[in-house]
Amino acid sequence: MSKIRILSDALASQVAAGEVVARPASVVRELVENSLDAGATQIEVAVQSGGSALIRITDNGAGMDREDAMLCLERHATSKIRSKEDLAAIHTFGFRGEALPSIASVSRFKLVTCQPSAPAGTELEVHGGKLVAVRDGVAAPGTMIEVRSLFYNLPARRKFLRTETTEYAQVEQQFRLHAIASPHAAFTLIKDGEIMYHLPATTDVMERIRGLVGDELAMRLLPVLEVERFNISVAGYIGGPGFSRSNRQMQVVFLNGRAIESPAIYHGLREGYHTALMKGQHPVTFLFMRMDPHAYDINVHPAKKEVRFHDSQSVREALSRAVSDTLNQSRALPQGHATPRAFLPVGLDFEPEPSLVTPPMVEQVSLPIPAAEQTSLRRDWASLPASPAPLPISNRPLSDPTPVQPENAKRKTENAAASDYKIIGVLNKLYVLMESNEGLVLMDQHAAHERVLFEKMRRAMETEGVPTQRLLMPLMLHVSPRDYELLSRNLAALARLGIEAEPFGANTLKIDTLPTFMTSDDPLALMNSFVEELASLSQRSSTLRLGEDMIATTACRHAVKANDRLRQPELQSLLLDLLACEMPYCCPHGRPTLIQITYSELDRKFGRRAPG
Ligand code: ADP
Ligand code: MG
Repeated sequence: MSKIRILSDALASQVAAGEVVARPASVVRELVENSLDAGATQIEVAVQSGGSALIRITDNGAGMDREDAMLCLERHATSKIRSKEDLAAIHTFGFRGEALPSIASVSRFKLVTCQPSAPAGTELEVHGGKLVAVRDGVAAPGTMIEVRSLFYNLPARRKFLRTETTEYAQVEQQFRLHAIASPHAAFTLIKDGEIMYHLPATTDVMERIRGLVGDELAMRLLPVLEVERFNISVAGYIGGPGFSRSNRQMQVVFLNGRAIESPAIYHGLREGYHTALMKGQHPVTFLFMRMDPHAYDINVHPAKKEVRFHDSQSVREALSRAVSDTLNQSRALPQGHATPRAFLPVGLDFEPEPSLVTPPMVEQVSLPIPAAEQTSLRRDWASLPASPAPLPISNRPLSDPTPVQPENAKRKTENAAASDYKIIGVLNKLYVLMESNEGLVLMDQHAAHERVLFEKMRRAMETEGVPTQRLLMPLMLHVSPRDYELLSRNLAALARLGIEAEPFGANTLKIDTLPTFMTSDDPLALMNSFVEELASLSQRSSTLRLGEDMIATTACRHAVKANDRLRQPELQSLLLDLLACEMPYCCPHGRPTLIQITYSELDRKFGRRAPG
């Protein structure tokens, strides 16, 4: 007797549901995408108990007639593609015709839909994939879908749902992604009867972002001016140097309007930030990429969030250049978007301003309450842990903002800026304490020195070359076969950095010169630790060749000695040099060099409310 059987439609839908519908957030994603595909300009998302009790999406889109309403619950029923040519260039969110039947097969599902001028709408109820009722529905144009008791008929799947808080957080993330991608539509999110977000339609993405992340955070974003490279256009907003997060929640990239993930994207962004991003941190981006839909395949992932690019190198480079250009130009930006001071690296927002993204129903918190409680009270992007800076700092714009200086007046500005800081003392032989108009400023002497050296070295490499010193006795560096490989591949880059090395027998390199700033009492030990770090870097990077910046960064780290006691004039000139840097606010490894604690911050901590 044969053993192979064709699955019943109901069973097939449940199996498919495993791929498309993993949790409430995936239901929200599919239904919101359907609403957008139907041309909706108003979308309301309501959930109860993190979505496991109820998810309800209401839109004012095109609606369906009765026949389509019945048909949309069939597997592979879609109005969006007809042929395999359509599949090669998808313009809608949906196209698989799987979402509705899948969702309906694992929940108590209700659909109410009506086309604009129809005399009556249609109401359908499906329980666990079985149609249980069809009746006339209200004649309000648009569609409402209710999904109750998700996975009620699949206890094993239901068990996999996480806590309400976690599921809700995921729902909210989906909501935000769509809200940012489609600012032309008004979005509302309701959680257990409370309005969390109510975002009016707008033509300005920034306004939408502000509505989601709050003014303070939005103010720290730099606009990425739209440029096209390799037929890929990139525009949007990114966080300035030193502004990062410990997870990827705010690393958002849309491809032709769809939030997507791809290693090429992560690498591109990381490369773009290179020295402006701390290790283990993720950039904050809201980027919109546009490219020909023929140039990628979206059909590789059932939830359509991972894409495969035909030319991922171009994607990577387009993103990387968009980011690095923006960071490099950022100092010449007009007021409002970013004064130089607005780039002070932003620390952990352990204690978000109560005014950040306060949902209308939530009471403003004004008493100082422990950080942990605050974050659990308000789960918003601003309260997520960001870079592990020791102190939260605020970057309130200058009360008396100095206009941004043109490039030729730069040095003068820096002098002025340096005189804004009065050095008070040095903490732990490392942190330089300074007083500014706005409060306390701390400089990490070590990080500052690294940044200064790094930029000097990079400038020298681009112009006259790095000053070197010929060693009286060449250094014989014995390394592992693997490190030998690595160094031999990078001899040219090393030479540009002032390290002239040549192969000298088995696993040995003869080193004739070192950059002057790298000379030390024990050059061999210095070189060994330098090589060790390069080797560990090369393991993490995907490219065979080490970037020059990478080598330079490492060289600087090894050149700067920790906890050197510097005198006042030396500190003064270090500060001056630092402020003259292109990217003064973080070291080449992305750690902050300067941290500011404003008076209002201090007033808050000591329980004095700042006047006004
Ligand atoms: P897909 O989106 O891949 O086509 P779905 O199962 O999500 O598949 O939806 C099936 C069809 O139902 C869609 O192609 C569309 O014609 C119709 N539909 C679904 N949701 C809506 C909606 N909110 N408004 C109007 N039509 C809808
Ligand atoms: Mg769909």
